[in-house]
Amino acid sequence: MMQIYNTMTRKKEAFIPLEEGKIRLYTCGPTVYNYFHIGNARTFIFFDVMRRYFEFRGYEVTYVQNITDIDDKIIAQSLEEGIDFQQIGAKYTAAFLDDSAALGIRPPDHLPKATDFVPQMIDLIAQLVEKGNAYEANGDVYFDTAALPEYGKLSGKKTEEQLAGARVEENYQKRHPADFTLWKRSKPGEPVWQSPWGEGRPGWHTECVVMSRQFLGETFDIHGGGIDLIFPHHENELAQAMALSGNPPAKYWMHNGFLNIGGEKMSKSLKNFHTARDILREYDAASIRFFFLSKHYRSPIDFDRELIAEADRAVKNLNSALKSVDAMELLDPNNIDDPSVEAVQEFTAAMDDDLNTAKALAVLFDLAHKTRNATLPMPERLNNGRRLIKLGQVLGFFADPEAILSPKAGDLSKSLIELIISYRNAARQNKDWASSDRFRDDLAALGIMLKDTKDGCHWSIEEPQ
Ligand code: AMP
Ligand code: ZN
Repeated sequence: MMQIYNTMTRKKEAFIPLEEGKIRLYTCGPTVYNYFHIGNARTFIFFDVMRRYFEFRGYEVTYVQNITDIDDKIIAQSLEEGIDFQQIGAKYTAAFLDDSAALGIRPPDHLPKATDFVPQMIDLIAQLVEKGNAYEANGDVYFDTAALPEYGKLSGKKTEEQLAGARVEENYQKRHPADFTLWKRSKPGEPVWQSPWGEGRPGWHTECVVMSRQFLGETFDIHGGGIDLIFPHHENELAQAMALSGNPPAKYWMHNGFLNIGGEKMSKSLKNFHTARDILREYDAASIRFFFLSKHYRSPIDFDRELIAEADRAVKNLNSALKSVDAMELLDPNNIDDPSVEAVQEFTAAMDDDLNTAKALAVLFDLAHKTRNATLPMPERLNNGRRLIKLGQVLGFFADPEAILSPKAGDLSKSLIELIISYRNAARQNKDWASSDRFRDDLAALGIMLKDTKDGCHWSIEEPQ
């Protein structure tokens, strides 16, 4: 039976889904005011792996991740870029999807945007006011933490700590310093929605309650995010759900550790981050993934180029094992593997133990070793190679095994095109227009179109009609 660490109970627990064979998973997605950083990527990659693993175990998974597209930071960014907040949201949501895909992260089943659910948020806040769990003050609406005795259960925060933390805000409208905003009165020039409390916008903590309920129901299996979300965000989501129905939103709460840099959390506000797209220019997605998965998800990881380079070598090592056997045989879809084999069992045991990906990677290495071991009979080597691909895919590797096995074709064509362009450039320099035109026309005949611009000759491949 699978064990996972539940932040709520602070221990590993047997994982029993609410509905047999099905898993409903919600994670808090990005606030789309900027390109996401490689720390955020750690969280997104971890939940991608968890989802893949549940599927491998035969569960039908519904994965929801929200997009926070209204927030103070988005408004600030829209002023900075001089475009409206919706354009900011659209721009960075598109970037989020592009960068996630480049990292090999599968898109969630639902990706709701906060701004599409504002009426439902108003409705939920109105219910909380009605029940006496929230109050209005000067156009803002706050959650009344004193009205919920179990407030603080998820994070284990003592009231004293909350007092100390919240006091910094010096918000005298609140009845209690720990009370949090559900609805925010808008300042002049900010985006607004009409509500029973005047013009304003919803708070972040309400967004996730509404969107998770909408897609996954009142209580679902797993609610996840990075550990920074335990307090206040998840505590405050829990508080609203408990006040509404007496039921928690999720049975299990899972939080993964930070990517640190120089011992500090990588974060947008500390400006100590590298965007995922920048890092992807330096390293392959598989190497980044390997770097993260080589440590347990709850442990912190330091951003360390040496270790990423090491991960890169490890991925190449796995790839080279696959290249040591016949590609056609290896990828033969008729060769179905036996799930009872030891490697599959070891892999499953590691992953069942609170997603021990580091141990699971060790199983992949063992399989790689057996795949390239020339002393073993070829059918056995091939079977190990097939298992390596199959289990590797559960962790998000080998998305396209054929590309790994014959990576040269694409690269080689590109190099050849550039070589011919360099010959054409030389011809042009010699004013040999006849040759130059011939190079261009012959490439065009193959569908490779050249365009001369002030910074050189660019090429593109014409899509077949
Ligand atoms: P944000 O866009 O800041 O709301 O963050 C999106 C997700 O990334 C949340 O689940 C955060 O908990 C997570 N996250 C933020 N910073 C880090 C970090 N340095 N390491 C790992 N996860 C992080
Ligand atoms: Zn959330």
